Amino acid sequence: MKTLPAGMLILAAAAIVVAAQQTWTIHDPNRPLPPVVDPGPAGPPVPAPSDAIVLFDGMSLLQWTDAKGQPARWKVENGYMEVVPKTGSIQTVKGFGDCQLHVEWMAPSPAKGTDQDRGNSGVFLMNLYEVQVLDSYENKTYADGMAAAIYGQFPPLVNACRKPGEWQTYDIVFHRPRFGEDKKLLQPATMTIFHNGILVHDNAVLTGPTAHKARPPYVAHADQLPISLQDHSHPVRYRNIWLRPLE
Ligand code: MG
Repeated sequence: MKTLPAGMLILAAAAIVVAAQQTWTIHDPNRPLPPVVDPGPAGPPVPAPSDAIVLFDGMSLLQWTDAKGQPARWKVENGYMEVVPKTGSIQTVKGFGDCQLHVEWMAPSPAKGTDQDRGNSGVFLMNLYEVQVLDSYENKTYADGMAAAIYGQFPPLVNACRKPGEWQTYDIVFHRPRFGEDKKLLQPATMTIFHNGILVHDNAVLTGPTAHKARPPYVAHADQLPISLQDHSHPVRYRNIWLRPLE
């Protein structure tokens, strides 16, 4: 048997590493955590561009309901909304597909709890695909469940979390999945995400809808569905939410 040149062995080893990275099991505690990056200080709310749909202006929850279509029962004060634990997740009255979404959020201060039990909420595109909200400032959890993770699928490229009590931004470019007439998947959903202005997902291709401890396959759905914010029993705050439809 001929021996392979060293260069080829290195390439083969790299291919194995790449393959291993693509096959991390869900919530794998051994999955490496991304490096921490200081995003710098929080700024004022980012103004909505003139063509944006303002989903929350700090004043009212008229554009939001609970999961049953009843008025959202989260608290609104001082220009932000706050999760009222056990009142349920809230969702937009209108549905959206491809979009650019801007969200600002803040984890409770002082921090309480550890791991997933600390400043947990979430931004769901189409009510199905979650960008995790979590206090990941000096708080360890599984990589695919930390702040700015595409929950259960992809950790962020870096941990750009600010301290609890400081406003943070998500800017998400989302493309919905496409389904054929036969309801078969033609094109998976993708997300590009900036956390506090820093790229954390570069056109990530989603494996399917979000679930806990599972990666279920795509199931055909409507082209426009609500955006939802998760009640995970922690008083996380949101402000200044706007969206630009891309279809
Ligand atoms: Mg969550």
